Amino acid sequence: MLEQSNELAAWDRDHFFHPSTHMGAHARGEMPNRIVAGGEGVTIWDNTGKKSIDAFAGLYCVNVGYGRQKISDAIAEQAKNLAYYHAYVGHGTEASIRLSKMIIDRAPKGMSRVYYGLSGSDANETNIKLIWYYNNVLGRPEKKKIISRWRGYHGSGIMTGSLTGLAGFHNAFDLPRAPVLHTEAPYYYRREDRSLSEEQFSQYCADQLEKLILAQGPETIAAFIGEPVLGTGGIVPPPKGYWGKIQAVLKKYDILLVADEVVTGFGRLGSMFGSDHYGIEPDLITIAKGLTSAYAPLSGVIVGEKMWKGLVQGSDKLGPIGHGWTYSAHPICVAAGVANLELIDKMGLVKNAGETGAYFRAELAKAVADHKNVGDVRGDGMLAAVEFVEDKDDRKFFDPAKKIGPQVSAALLERGVIGRAMPQGDILGFAPPLCLTRAEADVIVAKTAEAVKAVLG
Ligand code: PLP
Repeated sequence: MLEQSNELAAWDRDHFFHPSTHMGAHARGEMPNRIVAGGEGVTIWDNTGKKSIDAFAGLYCVNVGYGRQKISDAIAEQAKNLAYYHAYVGHGTEASIRLSKMIIDRAPKGMSRVYYGLSGSDANETNIKLIWYYNNVLGRPEKKKIISRWRGYHGSGIMTGSLTGLAGFHNAFDLPRAPVLHTEAPYYYRREDRSLSEEQFSQYCADQLEKLILAQGPETIAAFIGEPVLGTGGIVPPPKGYWGKIQAVLKKYDILLVADEVVTGFGRLGSMFGSDHYGIEPDLITIAKGLTSAYAPLSGVIVGEKMWKGLVQGSDKLGPIGHGWTYSAHPICVAAGVANLELIDKMGLVKNAGETGAYFRAELAKAVADHKNVGDVRGDGMLAAVEFVEDKDDRKFFDPAKKIGPQVSAALLERGVIGRAMPQGDILGFAPPLCLTRAEADVIVAKTAEAVKAVLG
């Protein structure tokens, strides 16, 4: 077993180009590589048998937990009966049609159709193309710019990497590309003017957005994209009143709203969608991760009624829409989606995300908020984050070179719990599977307190 492990580890270093990984450190063997072998509930284990509680649900995606046979059976059954047929020119399978109905039944009101892809990134690429197409059909070809937020995360493609507002995803890639603009992140803890209340800071964000729109010319701005809760940018729920104020500005200038619910869709906040949770009325919704709990790759764009009408006008004028992926509505993936959404209902996971999530966040705050280097403990539903600072009163951040966030997450992993050092800032993020129990939450909290103590005293 050990020999086989060593051989696999060598092949891994020599041949596998990993995403979001320090290429040199991995290839030279300066960082651990971990060969994950199995999972059950909230726990995964590697090929040496070492177990960990996965308090980040993979990449906030294994929402039902690992090892759910109902979903693997649905995948196997579909693979046996019909592993593939395309969805072009009106083709579908029972599962693709059923899943579309299930999504629209669960979506916020005013949603009409679902277009499928395989990743959150490709779904956001689809969003931008649909927005441009729509504005061309409406005869306003100059209305094309897209506004996103600093610290937003919308994917790693050329367009979606541009929408993403994190330097690490732009550096040396010649991103961001036009026509993408970034505005203020709704990050209350990091606000520049510390005298502002949450509501005042929300107003400040809305004013900054309006200034940008006016400086560029409202007739050039097509859409605004945002995650209901900033995810990869630091797990930051919006300050009070934020979405209401932002939507008022967008309405005033006839700007479309895309809610990127790749993380928040299907229950993570204790509501089926983050849009319902915060009173967001989007024109388009991006979905992925929780749609299949990552048992198979599947994403989607939920198109609202207003846009759908415009798109249909386009087809009546121009013919079939020239946008298609070979694997759109892939039968195996949509079969996983149907089984996953059924399981979410059956296990009562949306409710559990709200209730056990609230318990987890309260216990986490009790355990670490008073620590001298913990500046902020925040979250919503089954999403939580702890932000570390060098000086709490002065809100002085650590020198990034000290890698405090990664050190704490490594100390936590040593103690059998996976949290994520978020990529920008010293932030330890949690997004456990939605099936988390209070007892499991207690273990995560206790181990986090130990890890913080081990690194920061
Ligand atoms: N949008 C959001 C909000 C995400 O969190 C992510 C991934 O984490 C994406 C889009 C991109 O999804 P993918 O990695 O499947 O391309």
